[in-house]
Amino acid sequence: MIYFEKVTKEYPNGTTALKDINLHIKPKEFVTVVGTSGAGKSTLIRCIFMEDRPTYGKIFVGGVDLTSIRKSDIPYLRRKIGVVFQDYKLLPQKTVFENVSFALEASGMPAKEIKNRVPKILQLVGLAEKHNNFPNELSGGEQQRVAIARAVVRQPKILIADEPTGNLDPKNAWEIIDLLLKINQYGTTVVMTTHNKDIVNAIKKRVITINQGRVSKDQEVGRYTI
Ligand code: ADP
Repeated sequence: MIYFEKVTKEYPNGTTALKDINLHIKPKEFVTVVGTSGAGKSTLIRCIFMEDRPTYGKIFVGGVDLTSIRKSDIPYLRRKIGVVFQDYKLLPQKTVFENVSFALEASGMPAKEIKNRVPKILQLVGLAEKHNNFPNELSGGEQQRVAIARAVVRQPKILIADEPTGNLDPKNAWEIIDLLLKINQYGTTVVMTTHNKDIVNAIKKRVITINQGRVSKDQEVGRYTI
């Protein structure tokens, strides 16, 4: 599903964020990426959804070579990948429903289908009742659930989550993790960066440890050991 072949990322200021990374993430895996601050985790996952491009090496997502993709194919590929961030990035002037429907409208989906699909996704994330609320009327955990709904409403093959629980207390963090595990059980590949040791150790999923831009450990049922 996701292949990295000898991927190196150098930023224009001379920082080498990734060094010779080789990775294979299989379909339907749930992978956590851990490492100290500045290790290269965000750069690694930004390369998967093409927010960053490697300087050397190749990345394949769903059989497509991201390093030689035509510009016109990028939106098509991005549709296969949902992304969630630590700070939710919701649109403040739009309701919960509109935040989720927005991406569907932009992709040209008929209004009737949008009206059918959005409530189902809001049900999945436990926010059906709040469809008319605005982001500032929601708790952090609820806002992150809206962000997850928005990320998965187009049924992507891959869900990328960069520190999705970073701003949440343990109870809300666990609700988000349970939701990501549920989405993974439905067949979506999930790649998540996190600093949350308790969560990593409890979920018993694959753990990739990044240290100074390299994969220092890759454990099938991993523990948080940085
Ligand atoms: P992490 O997510 O593990 O904290 P990052 O991938 O954000 O690490 O950063 C890895 C390294 O790349 C760090 O040294 C960071 O300062 C540097 N870096 C990240 N983004 C940029 C950028 N846009 N320009 C220059 N250097 C960057």
